[in-house]
Amino acid sequence: MSRWFFIFFALFALFAATPAAAQALSVEGIRFGDNAGKTRLVIDLSRSASYRAFLLPSPNRLVVDIPQAQWKIPRSRFITDDLLKGYRSGALDDGVTRIVFDLKKPGIISGSFTLPKSATARDRIVIDLTPSSQNLFNARLEDVAGDRDLKGASKTLSRQDNGSEFRQMQNRLAAEAAPVAAPTVLPLKKPASQPPAKSAQTRKYTIIIDPGHGGQDPGAVGTGGVREKNITLSTARALKKMLEESGRYRVYLTRDSDKFVRLRERLDFSRKKGGDLFISIHADKIGRTNVRGASIYTLSETASDAETARLAEGENKAGVVAGVDLSEESADVADILLDLAMREKMNESNLLAKYLEQSLKSKKVKLLPNSHRSAGFAVLKAPDIPSVLLEIGFLSNAEEVKLLTSSQFQSRISAAIMEGVDAYFRKIQALQKI
Ligand code: ZN
Repeated sequence: MSRWFFIFFALFALFAATPAAAQALSVEGIRFGDNAGKTRLVIDLSRSASYRAFLLPSPNRLVVDIPQAQWKIPRSRFITDDLLKGYRSGALDDGVTRIVFDLKKPGIISGSFTLPKSATARDRIVIDLTPSSQNLFNARLEDVAGDRDLKGASKTLSRQDNGSEFRQMQNRLAAEAAPVAAPTVLPLKKPASQPPAKSAQTRKYTIIIDPGHGGQDPGAVGTGGVREKNITLSTARALKKMLEESGRYRVYLTRDSDKFVRLRERLDFSRKKGGDLFISIHADKIGRTNVRGASIYTLSETASDAETARLAEGENKAGVVAGVDLSEESADVADILLDLAMREKMNESNLLAKYLEQSLKSKKVKLLPNSHRSAGFAVLKAPDIPSVLLEIGFLSNAEEVKLLTSSQFQSRISAAIMEGVDAYFRKIQALQKI
């Protein structure tokens, strides 16, 4: 697929009524996306500025320096990408703002350029990273892309003397880093109906569990006449009980009886309850009776784009979606805000899916190959709540039906899900402390 996409990390103070001062430089967004095996990084700025980019080893990092800038987005964030783990930033004494991207594996700078402001975009710095061997990475350590002397910074930094600068930057970061609201980074108006935010340490997270199907919709009907709607409900109840008993979570089921609930109602319910996570539970069925194993779905990019477009039109526009009061925004701005909220949420959904995959494995729940998949399930389309859909097994496999209907297995899979959820929130909290 030649079409490439961006994941956005951004929030947009610029949309406030007052225009930014003409000369102040600020970082307005950091976005990234896969483009034919490369990772393309885009740094959105309030005005054009020079930059320099280079690599640092042990651990592998990409450094981007720009003249001293304000931050309109969080100064550090995790990223779920093949190449990048996240970014951190700090102010150096020399009038330089340094952005450090931690790399998951070696990658070299295969291109970099700036783009001027256009009708629809800000001034941008674009950097392409291509996966490489460690040897090639090491061979490129002397290279500097962009402007080595960094016009606009008060003095020139030595490219080599980065150790002390970097430590200094981390110390500053610890002192300066502003807490980031959890778990979404959008600092936009919350709907008035939401409870006031509590501190990350003392707050109980709210988890919405969504047992698939119900009432006149039995879902898949498996061997021995077992119905998906019953399996999903009993598993959801077991999971709810376990999460509540941990004392760490407030848990709501989208249905707690054998009744039909529309997909949209399930989403509205999660939003009304202020869900921090949405976990939909289903069981699968397939013609080949020997296939078994669980899988984890997150929303696909294309489905997300379509849904964002849909949400941005029609009656939803009058309301509050993803914490954004759309009634006060122009149509274009509303589209952008929704897009950002959706992409940010997808990033967190992917993180949760990754932890669930690990925890299911560690609790010996059988998984399908490539168990993390993406699809356009309607129930995953809440733009404001990280969401996953779990297919906990196949009702077309007799052995799996035996498992899925046993309370023993329901406890095991619940424990596995809780382990993944715990890991997810630990990560979110740790990132807020960077
Ligand atoms: Zn289903």
